[in-house]
Amino acid sequence: MTTITGRFAPSPSGPLHFGSLVAALASYCQAKACSGRWLLRIEDVDTPRVVAGAAEQILRDLEAFGFAWDDSVLYQSERFEQYQYYLDNLLGQDDCYACECSRRNLREQNAPQGPLGLIYPGNCRDKQLSVANHSIRLRTKKAGVVKFSDRVYGEFALNLSETVGDFVLKRVDDIYAYHLAVVIDDEQQGVNQIVRGADLLENTCLHIFLQQRLGFDTPSYMHIPLVNNATGVKLSKQTGANAIDQQNAALQLLDALIHLGQSPGPDLLTCKPAEILQWAIDNWTPELIPIQRPSIAENFES
Ligand code: GLU
Repeated sequence: MTTITGRFAPSPSGPLHFGSLVAALASYCQAKACSGRWLLRIEDVDTPRVVAGAAEQILRDLEAFGFAWDDSVLYQSERFEQYQYYLDNLLGQDDCYACECSRRNLREQNAPQGPLGLIYPGNCRDKQLSVANHSIRLRTKKAGVVKFSDRVYGEFALNLSETVGDFVLKRVDDIYAYHLAVVIDDEQQGVNQIVRGADLLENTCLHIFLQQRLGFDTPSYMHIPLVNNATGVKLSKQTGANAIDQQNAALQLLDALIHLGQSPGPDLLTCKPAEILQWAIDNWTPELIPIQRPSIAENFES
């Protein structure tokens, strides 16, 4: 039987907040309830967005909240050669091409808006530009409608060429795109079960198409409801979400479990984080994860 391998993949653009704790917890419980492995990957591919000290803080917070990861931590910033290797393969099989369009060019051209931003109209598709000093895009013409069955959100589909267009795998400033890094890392780490926030549902269709072009297997996907703040905006580092607080680990873990539709009793409040996590694994019921979030997380924010 194949071992289940899940992962948590935070970006070190700031400390973990309640939304990231929910993602860590759901991926941990889902992996451990299947007697699987749970890996930790620091997604620092976008080096200009990395905040000094954030990765170390994330590791310390996870430990204080009782999480124990398998294997050593993987850092994307140490893997650029791998990303280039696969990008060269894609270029070699004419799946990718160089592009000189800036976002501003596309706006001036009135490129239509899709679920993931401006839909690329294909300006450079046949220009045969040199790869140096240009961004690199993946051709999506062959993608058609990409479908998958999410364990929480059910059937999900996106017509990639019509609603996204050819998407960037390497930026003009030489930064590898998250899409390329995440697909290669999951494959090479043997990740076969992905649990992450519902803001990435659409992105999953891009990842599945990329996996197909690279000849990789597609993992199973479970997206979990986002945590919004009191004004209904998704908690994120950009919207100034509060960092999780090691002093209140038990309470925040219980709130996170409630957000995920689980029913921890108040007796757990006096337990250590590792004991709460063990309860969560033993009682993990993913069928109860709501598509709409309950209001408890809002209370937590105030
Ligand atoms: N690094 C992403 C984030 O922090 C998560 C990506 C993923 O789980 O695939 O939002």
